[in-house]
Amino acid sequence: MQFEPYKALYLHIPFCVRKCAYCDFESCAVARDDARIDQYVDELVLEIRRASKAGLLGSLQTVYIGGGTPSHIGLARLSKLLYTLSLSMHLEPEIECTMEANPESLDARMVRDIWALGVNRLSIGVQSFDDEVLSILGRPHGAKAAREAVRMAHERFENVSVDLMCGIPGQSDESFAESVRVAVELGVTHVSVYPLTIEEGTPFAQRVESGVMPEPDDDVEARHMLLAAEILEAAGFHRYEVASYARPGFESRHNTAYWTGVPYLGLGRGATTMRQTADRRERIKDGEVLEVLDAAEMLAEDLMLAMRMSRGFSIEDAEDAALVFDQLPEVLGDLMADDLVELRDRRFRPTTRGWLCGNQLYARLLALA
Ligand code: SF4
Repeated sequence: MQFEPYKALYLHIPFCVRKCAYCDFESCAVARDDARIDQYVDELVLEIRRASKAGLLGSLQTVYIGGGTPSHIGLARLSKLLYTLSLSMHLEPEIECTMEANPESLDARMVRDIWALGVNRLSIGVQSFDDEVLSILGRPHGAKAAREAVRMAHERFENVSVDLMCGIPGQSDESFAESVRVAVELGVTHVSVYPLTIEEGTPFAQRVESGVMPEPDDDVEARHMLLAAEILEAAGFHRYEVASYARPGFESRHNTAYWTGVPYLGLGRGATTMRQTADRRERIKDGEVLEVLDAAEMLAEDLMLAMRMSRGFSIEDAEDAALVFDQLPEVLGDLMADDLVELRDRRFRPTTRGWLCGNQLYARLLALA
């Protein structure tokens, strides 16, 4: 089977200084000087070299080093990884190369060196600029360190993103709004806003179960999402995806690849790879094929993913898709009647209600196949 070339590369670093109370990501708390990190990085270096030798890295347009906490593994190991990357692919300035960092492990030297080694976008896991909220989340950094990290990042990087979390029990509207305003004041070019979700097996799940913590409230979450939209749009950001705001030209190209059916290669423990031909899409994790979609399912997924983005899909795309799904015009009519989708500038796009009730909207498009 001849698969399309990968356009995006994801490298996973599954280590953190400690585990946050809500987190169920593939990551574990390991001390920075632990030899298991060295071993992991050496294996990742091998994986990158093998992928290069197999000709898988020749068409990449974006690289994303995520986690976990990549900055936690320290500069020497990051340099090894970045040096391997630069030997294994054309890590040119046109290639968007993002690294995630957390405030407690980012320092001025790391900022300078990773920039010199080809990283050109920093995504900082801030979550909040409010100490009380950070302590509820069990984050290892405080608000001051978060501000400092963004300031340091700007010594080299023009393209700096922060993640903010909303809908956290104990987080007031004002606290969340203030965090968004601080991000704007600090001059970041991109903000991702995620509502808290309670994941099974986390300390948060136990707290909710035992009644120590209330469940996140949908109305609060909706209010926070609207607040973020209001503050960021007034400051010149535009919402290009349900959870992502950018100044013009600073949209994440790597994340956009995930939402536009572009094949991506994931290296490292727990990283997902998506590969495809014209009529088959596969998702693979740790060598195991998790999901196989046929042509119709791919098309339904593409329509669904397009609705995560403000650009949606065009009338022409809808006409083509209707050749496969003859019920599509009716479904779109229903979605418009329910105020989840609107037709604007010849494109079907999510409405504000569509952003808020995304799951309803996505499920109805996926059900086409
Ligand atoms: S820093 Fe991120 S990956 Fe690590 S434990 Fe916290 S939320 Fe999870």
